Amino acid sequence: MGLLALGTALDWPEAKKRAPQVREWGIKQLLEIWNKAKGKERDAMLWGDEVEYLVVTYAEDDPKVLLSLRQAEILEALAEDKELKKKGGCVPDLQDGDSPAPLADSSHPIPVFHPEFGRFMLEATPGKPWGIGFRELLEVEPDMKLRRKIAKEHMLSTEYPITLTTFPRIGSPGQFTDPYYPTSGSRLRSQFVPDEIANPHIRFPTLAANIRSRRGRKVQVNVPVFHDKDTPNPWKDPTVNYDLHDWPEDDDVRNGAAPDNFIHMDAMAFGMGSCCLQITFQAKNIIEGRQLYDQLSPLGPIMLALTAATPVYKGFLANTDVRWNQISRAVDCRTPEELGEKPLTNGARRIPKSRYASNSTYISTDPRLRKEYLDPDLVVDLDIKQQLLDGGMDDRLATHFAHLFIRDPIVVFEEDLQELDLNKTDHFENIQSTNWQHMRFKPPPADNSIGWRVEFRSMEIQITDFENAAFSVFMVLVTRAILSFDLNFYIPIKKVDENMERAHAVDSVLKEKFYFRRNPFPSRPSRANTVVGDDSRPGSAYPSRPPTPGGPVEDEYDEMTIDDIINGSPNGDFPGLIPIVESYLDSVNVDVSTRCQLATYLDLIGRRARGDLDTAARWIRNFVDTHPRYKHDSVVDEELNHDLIGAVIAIGERESAGQGFAGLDIHGLERLLNGFRGGCGGDDRTPNGTGTGNGNGS
Ligand code: ADP
Ligand code: MG
Ligand code: MG
Ligand code: MG
Ligand code: MG
Ligand code: MG
Repeated sequence: MGLLALGTALDWPEAKKRAPQVREWGIKQLLEIWNKAKGKERDAMLWGDEVEYLVVTYAEDDPKVLLSLRQAEILEALAEDKELKKKGGCVPDLQDGDSPAPLADSSHPIPVFHPEFGRFMLEATPGKPWGIGFRELLEVEPDMKLRRKIAKEHMLSTEYPITLTTFPRIGSPGQFTDPYYPTSGSRLRSQFVPDEIANPHIRFPTLAANIRSRRGRKVQVNVPVFHDKDTPNPWKDPTVNYDLHDWPEDDDVRNGAAPDNFIHMDAMAFGMGSCCLQITFQAKNIIEGRQLYDQLSPLGPIMLALTAATPVYKGFLANTDVRWNQISRAVDCRTPEELGEKPLTNGARRIPKSRYASNSTYISTDPRLRKEYLDPDLVVDLDIKQQLLDGGMDDRLATHFAHLFIRDPIVVFEEDLQELDLNKTDHFENIQSTNWQHMRFKPPPADNSIGWRVEFRSMEIQITDFENAAFSVFMVLVTRAILSFDLNFYIPIKKVDENMERAHAVDSVLKEKFYFRRNPFPSRPSRANTVVGDDSRPGSAYPSRPPTPGGPVEDEYDEMTIDDIINGSPNGDFPGLIPIVESYLDSVNVDVSTRCQLATYLDLIGRRARGDLDTAARWIRNFVDTHPRYKHDSVVDEELNHDLIGAVIAIGERESAGQGFAGLDIHGLERLLNGFRGGCGGDDRTPNGTGTGNGNGS
């Protein structure tokens, strides 16, 4: 099963000494691949999604719901399944690299399963990336359902893969991991979760331990508690133990790590144990990749708010709706000096963000990228930037990588430091893949076999595969519209940061406003790298408006609701992403049944933006609020959690049985899943026949 160490992972004091070497070699490897791949052209428009699962142990008559820690055994069972192998299924090794190539003779390879940070998690991707075809978009949802089915078939009968972002009671006292371990291991030193909760592959516990060591104390994942009418005020996290003396880090809470009115968590598992939905797009060349990176960037917070699914932590209702900042804090390796808590010494620098954070810069060669959109205070490593410039890289891209390379590598293997291998990208990837920003610009692998890719990383995982497919497909369609119409979503990058914060508010999807560019249409002549000339695009309902180059940047954007951004603003100022996608679909050849199916996805998203349908976060809140056990004191106890998980499992089973959801109205399920009422003739999601319900005029 390959769970053994691949080498000697250095503890932090040693890893720290070798960090400059890793950075130097990483930059050499980056320049090597950049030189090899910068002229790469005409790569196919491929894309792929990643779905992450929690594995829970649940029985209707047992009030205890446990997180199952059998990731390794489940992956092993999948790997050893000969029938799956024949169909092209495979499990990659535990290196965090690119997916293995699917079998060449298999046209529909079955999904691929991957390990994840949490030993109670799984990740699944399609057996090979999706292509450009529209009909292929319809294969995504069945493929996601197949993944869930295959995963379930390789679990115990009491185990279930579920797509909640976080286990609502992770870290609360009691035996809720299976098998059970005592807490406070040497790696995490958490008072709430055992070391065994992390994937045992040496990489993961080392990552957690070295982040803690570098920081000089445990991570502090503090989430504001939701104050209900009977929640004490001030509220003190009743699960915090102030009297532990096992590790030096046990002092953290005595030194103020657990302030009033915050749910306090203290380990990487509380963040990296969250599940998300990621989409990777391959661009035809580096220019297009850089364009997509920039244009998708402002959509990150919008899609985060729309997919909000994380209202409960450690058995308490939180006053935030999404996972993002919690993960950010759970891997925040910054020292007190970098955080600005102590004077700088020894060449240290202040670093304003965690290595898990929203993007901090734009990278495109697009002439519409005004310098006012960039952050004048962006922290970069100037030496590294110079090396990249000397190697021939342009200033903007060199700035991006010199920004990522302000970070230390966290996991360093002694064996990898003997000789620099320019036919690998391991040192580059070491830094790159532990910069968890909301977009990732992925250069080709060392063998240059695939193209430049861009990953969209902000979305929360959804409870059903219908929703996960809808959001994946929506992002694909938005991406194609961006390229086809040469759309311009630029706003100052600091406004994207601010939007990311706003996305955390409870029901931000309905209650917040977000900075968004008012006119997304091109105001420049079409360029060589534009897929299709903008104005001449057949079917474009949106001719370009007069350019306003040089006008005040503040005039270019506005504060809008998600409804405005997705469906269009009432005064017509902003056209809306769905109408833009519709216009794109009008301009290309899509057969009627495909178009109808796509409309059900757009319908879900449009209705969620309008508030006709709930986010998973709102659905969970309502479930808790109306549950007879809930005392309006913010507590999600074991039995309530049992019923919540039971409802989530029931949703999954109904979905995989193709039964639709009408009539299943326990605790407001209807409002989460009304989207299933839409549908096309003959589809199994039309149990109550209310028609397509598609207000978007397909
Ligand atoms: P990571 O975990 O580093 O983000 P994965 O290996 O899990 O990357 O793959 C992410 C997604 O990228 C998967 O859905 C996979 O199918 C897809 N993918 C693989 N190769 C390509 C490619 N050439 N172009 C676009 N997507 C790809
Ligand atoms: Mg992956
Ligand atoms: Mg990965
Ligand atoms: Mg993953
Ligand atoms: Mg990914
Ligand atoms: Mg509207």
